[in-house]
Amino acid sequence: MIGHEWAVEQLRRSIGAGRDTHAYLFGGPAGVGKALLALRLAQALNCEQRPGDPCLACRACRRIERGSHPDVRVAGMAAQAAGLKPDEAARQKELKIATVREWQRDIALRPYEGRRRVLILLDAERLSEEAANAMLKTLEEPPPYATIVLVANSTDLLPTIVSRCRVLRLRPLPRRQVAAALEARGVEPADAALLAAWSGGRIGWALTALEHPEALERRDEQLAELLAVHAQGRTAGMRWAEQRAREYRNGEQELVFSWLELWQNWWRDVLLTAAGCPEGVVNVDRREALEQAAARHNLAESYAFVARLGRAAQQLRENGNPQLVLEHLALHLPGR
Ligand SMILES: [Zn+2]
Repeated sequence: MIGHEWAVEQLRRSIGAGRDTHAYLFGGPAGVGKALLALRLAQALNCEQRPGDPCLACRACRRIERGSHPDVRVAGMAAQAAGLKPDEAARQKELKIATVREWQRDIALRPYEGRRRVLILLDAERLSEEAANAMLKTLEEPPPYATIVLVANSTDLLPTIVSRCRVLRLRPLPRRQVAAALEARGVEPADAALLAAWSGGRIGWALTALEHPEALERRDEQLAELLAVHAQGRTAGMRWAEQRAREYRNGEQELVFSWLELWQNWWRDVLLTAAGCPEGVVNVDRREALEQAAARHNLAESYAFVARLGRAAQQLRENGNPQLVLEHLALHLPGR
């Protein structure tokens, strides 16, 4: 694990003392390291060499890492959509009660090889209300040999769920820690600093970007297109909204969310630049454009658009009509 030392230490101590919890909720932004922490916990509970402090080398640790350990199950949106036709998979917006029932049957079984049966439920923020209610009883009284780890991109779940879990909120890491981790992997210091800034402290995002440089190119193109929309105005905005709405309906929801996040980061950077706090800026490679934008727009206008972008993402997550939500943004671009 890189970072989150406090969480690792808490988990290590409670496993060592034999008073580990049976239901956890790991919350925090996407790409911050929650799923990896859940995997490490499953390894710590089942390691053959060093329980509580997984060796990552024994058979149990390696099988958990590969996803082939019979007592550790990882469920989530991807698992739920597996085997569906692409258009059916695209329509999956929440975790369904059938998914919950399936893992409830699974977790009721005694461990087959390991010491504990572990269920890692990714995307828990997308539990339907029905599915969430169905899991309350299991969360309250899991079998004594079972550990449930909910992994969610927010801790904004049903209060009845949250109150039954031990909640660990993972925060983005300091930029310098992300940069140091990248340098330790052989990245040039200047590139590491840039990637760390773009990552917003999400180490998982930065490591994925290292493996997929094409994602960084796409990010650059997306940002250039957003800036062109600002330069060209409403008609370009409406065209952009139509394209994104189509992507959204075709199942590329996460891509659309990445556009919104990028756009929101841009305007947050404009705000930070205008407010004289450039050290927090994400788009450190575009300081000149940020300064120009900060000079053209007043704080209230920039702030309003940051808030509007946040609401748009929220409305999409609540099943708002993508065309309407995105066109609304295009109609309210900050003035040129
Ligand atoms: Zn091990």
